[in-house]
Amino acid sequence: MCVAWGLCSCRRIRPLLKSELDMRCYDCLQEARSDTAGIGVCSRCGLAACENHARVRQVQVTRQVGMGVAYGRIPARRVVCHTCDRAETAH
Ligand SMILES: [Zn+2]
Ligand SMILES: [Zn+2]
Repeated sequence: MCVAWGLCSCRRIRPLLKSELDMRCYDCLQEARSDTAGIGVCSRCGLAACENHARVRQVQVTRQVGMGVAYGRIPARRVVCHTCDRAETAH
């Protein structure tokens, strides 16, 4: 039960609207194609990317073991959008 009902921040919690759940690929929006659904969110810029614009990369997971670092046997996964991927790999 909130003491200061009118000011309490818990009143601001509301269910997400449908439009907020719909991920549209940012790169597609830039190209005026708005019908593509995002498959993931870029781990660098946080924008949604579709199948064509996302790059799924395998990354090695490291764990602290005692004084050293151990590499996990199974690679993890990371999604980056095509723009960030280009920025990361450009020389
Ligand atoms: Zn796209
Ligand atoms: Zn990005």
